[in-house]
Amino acid sequence: MRVSETLIPTLREDPGEAETVSHRYMLRAGMIRKVAAGIYTYLPLGLRVLRKIEKIVREEMNRAGAQEVLMPVASPAELWRETGRWDFYGKELLRFKDRHERDFCLGPTHEEVITDLFRREVRSYRQMPLNFYQIQTKFRDEIRPRFGLMRGREFIMKDAYSFDRDEAGARLSYQKMYDAYNRIFARCGLTFRPVEADTGLIGGTSSHEFMVLAETGEETIVYSEEGTYAANVERAEVLPPDASELPAPRPLTAVSTPGRRTVEEVTKFLKIAPTQLVKTLLYTTGKDTVAVLVRGDHDVNEIKVKHLLGATDVELVVPERVPELTGAPVGYAGPVGLKNIRVLADWAVKAMANFVVGANKADTHFVDANWARDFTVDHFADLRNAQAGDPSPRQDGTLKTAKGIEVGHVFMLGTKYSQAMKATFLDAQGQEQLAVMGCYGIGVSRVAAASVEQNHDAKGIKWPIPIAPFHVTLLPLSQSEPVTQLASSLYRSMQESGIEVLWDDRDERAGVKFNDADLIGAPFHLVIGEKGLAQGQVELKVRQTGDTKKIAPDQALPTLT
Ligand code: ATP
Ligand code: MG
Ligand code: MG
Ligand code: MG
Repeated sequence: MRVSETLIPTLREDPGEAETVSHRYMLRAGMIRKVAAGIYTYLPLGLRVLRKIEKIVREEMNRAGAQEVLMPVASPAELWRETGRWDFYGKELLRFKDRHERDFCLGPTHEEVITDLFRREVRSYRQMPLNFYQIQTKFRDEIRPRFGLMRGREFIMKDAYSFDRDEAGARLSYQKMYDAYNRIFARCGLTFRPVEADTGLIGGTSSHEFMVLAETGEETIVYSEEGTYAANVERAEVLPPDASELPAPRPLTAVSTPGRRTVEEVTKFLKIAPTQLVKTLLYTTGKDTVAVLVRGDHDVNEIKVKHLLGATDVELVVPERVPELTGAPVGYAGPVGLKNIRVLADWAVKAMANFVVGANKADTHFVDANWARDFTVDHFADLRNAQAGDPSPRQDGTLKTAKGIEVGHVFMLGTKYSQAMKATFLDAQGQEQLAVMGCYGIGVSRVAAASVEQNHDAKGIKWPIPIAPFHVTLLPLSQSEPVTQLASSLYRSMQESGIEVLWDDRDERAGVKFNDADLIGAPFHLVIGEKGLAQGQVELKVRQTGDTKKIAPDQALPTLT
């Protein structure tokens, strides 16, 4: 492509609104433009990057045996009512009415729509397993859209949904996607790590997130140095608070706390099975009160409570009794959890500082527990070990934390959706069975931004070759006849040999062209200067390393291919 014929509105100055490197550089390189909060137009360069990522995703999804479909952006409320998510999804679901006053939403994810397809079209186990995927625009009315493509309201996702005959098959489908994701992110040139994850609004039985490691990541992961354990802190059973945020510790003392409700009472009160317990945060709200924040599955019937430290007696403080947790009805888990508690002002931070922890003894608690001092990882493992049903805590090594960007997420759904929507098939015995499902997402547009977070310097982006908008920027530094002629012949021969080349054919100063080339970040820059050419040389620069070398013009093509 010729720069003179392409809209690449680069910016010299940093746009004020951009807080992260990727947001700043993608705006400055003329790749994206904001239309509304969290809603962007992809300009030619930005779109080329997305198409590259999509191509890698398609190749690997096809290779893993998934078939591509394309579902609608608008979906009818009836389907969402069947699973209860019409009420449950909350404000992230953008709803509207059509001219007949029928309720619709813009799809934030497509479990309902694909499960509806399955139950209508698939009858027999012979047609299974199945895995459908699409690459499509999603809409989530994010409370805080930010960081450009990183957290948009409208964004591009690859979502896939598997349907298996049984658990074992579903696990195999999950593993295939897990493997495909590893290949996809490796091929995109990202440094990443799969971690155990929470299931959030999608629900299901287990999941892994793929985290791109970057300082600007919104997620915190904990992992063992030995590499045997890695999890999102939302999921991790060890939740190390940030010591710098906490007031000085007080001595740990045991107190008698007779008459507290037991976990059994609590679970009964919530109408859940104790086996559904997963996570709790525990702290004091007053001198003597133990508060338990529950983190659920966005489903009132599935509120999951667990006493974090193995205590047997807790008093339950449900979010409606905690006024600071505004907008959190009982059982709605959105604003609950360590990550969110952090932003819930002083009240929560203070509470976390010297908190009451459960003892394993009836009628006893410790007050003024201090995480760093009183709970080593091993100690914690002991406590959890003491709990029935959790015999194998794995995080017994030294744990470290890192920041990450969630670029992909795979879920084992089980029969959550097939049951709600009666998605069945006939097995070999002619018996009706529920399909066992999995679902798998990749934030295609987020991958682009995450790549910039990992690959940049003070001058701009350094795209990895597989997802770069162009392989080469061709930079003739003058409009003289020999320079232009060489540029145009190299342009043609590169195109003919499949090298994607951006020809900066503008009549601009060398400095402007260099700056733009560095900003846009193609992996190779081929500079044709008048003086060099007179000596039979052009200059090849590798953007990633900054290395340059002088070569003869007729060596340019062989060097690049
Ligand atoms: P997050 O925790 O960042 O809000 P999520 O867990 O809600 O993401 P999923 O439901 O797991 O997202 O969706 C699958 C993938 O879609 C995510 O792993 C992420 O890469 C991408 N994604 C989700 N929300 C956004 C968004 N607002 N903007 C861009 N990409 C997104
Ligand atoms: Mg989200
Ligand atoms: Mg998430
Ligand atoms: Mg997720």
